[in-house]
Amino acid sequence: MRLADKVALITGAASGIGKETASLFAQEGAKIVAVDLNDSDGEKTVSEVNSAGGDAIYVNANVSKSSDCEHMVKAAEEKYGKLNVMFNNAGIMDSRDDNAQVTEEEVWDLTMAINLKGVFLGCKFGIPAMQKAGGGSIINTASFVGLMGAATPQVAYTASKGGVISLTRELAVIHARENIRVNALCPGPLRTELLMKFLDTEAKKQKRLVHIPMGRFGEAKEMAKAALFLASDESSYTTGTEFVVDGGITSAYVTPE
Ligand code: NAD
Repeated sequence: MRLADKVALITGAASGIGKETASLFAQEGAKIVAVDLNDSDGEKTVSEVNSAGGDAIYVNANVSKSSDCEHMVKAAEEKYGKLNVMFNNAGIMDSRDDNAQVTEEEVWDLTMAINLKGVFLGCKFGIPAMQKAGGGSIINTASFVGLMGAATPQVAYTASKGGVISLTRELAVIHARENIRVNALCPGPLRTELLMKFLDTEAKKQKRLVHIPMGRFGEAKEMAKAALFLASDESSYTTGTEFVVDGGITSAYVTPE
């Protein structure tokens, strides 16, 4: 088992990438602290993990709140005695997010609070726990849009993910000699609720698919497998990376028809 004896905290575990990761990490031997705001779906993740023979607890936390992030890390230590893996994965894409002129400050602030400050707070409270544990692996979910401009305007989302990548690099450098690795996972467009609620017609899907060399959306399960590599000791020399898992989208350009 690739995560035997490890304790992993996963935010955004009620849905999409976080849910699939909770299940995969548990199959690989990790004890799971599943964190979300959506209690019913978060509890569902945990009951599925536990009925498949895993060991998981659910913790309600809003990652944009300092006291909640402190609480979720404490809950991990109280239940399982330590923290080895922190997957700062919760995020939102607000339907009102647009270009700079149109996007309201409220949308900017909310997006930054969850997508960027949420990652900062996870690290703020997760890192001391990892120092106590003798090291660990932090995975911060960014996005391919943090590496390039998105064709569909969503300035707050894109800027928040760029911030996650920069924060990740700096923390990786600061904590490298403490045996704490910090990597950003940069997914391409995925077939999860977050994106599909916007791409709700075949025409909209096709407009996006034309940019993806593989010609399909990624699956949450495929991100879980990448997160597993970053969480496990197999990635022991990997830190500060933008770990891109995107069907080739960041390598492609499209000539308009
Ligand atoms: P999802 O909507 O399926 O899951 C996100 C989860 O985060 C939900 O369970 C939600 O309840 C939770 N969440 C939202 N705000 C929260 C908060 N303040 N505190 C705690 N939990 C909160 O989306 P997903 O596709 O699995 O996205 C996971 C991550 O991947 C996000 O950071 C997203 O930006 C990123 N991402 C997604 C895509 C994509 O195409 N879906 C692409 C690149 C990056």
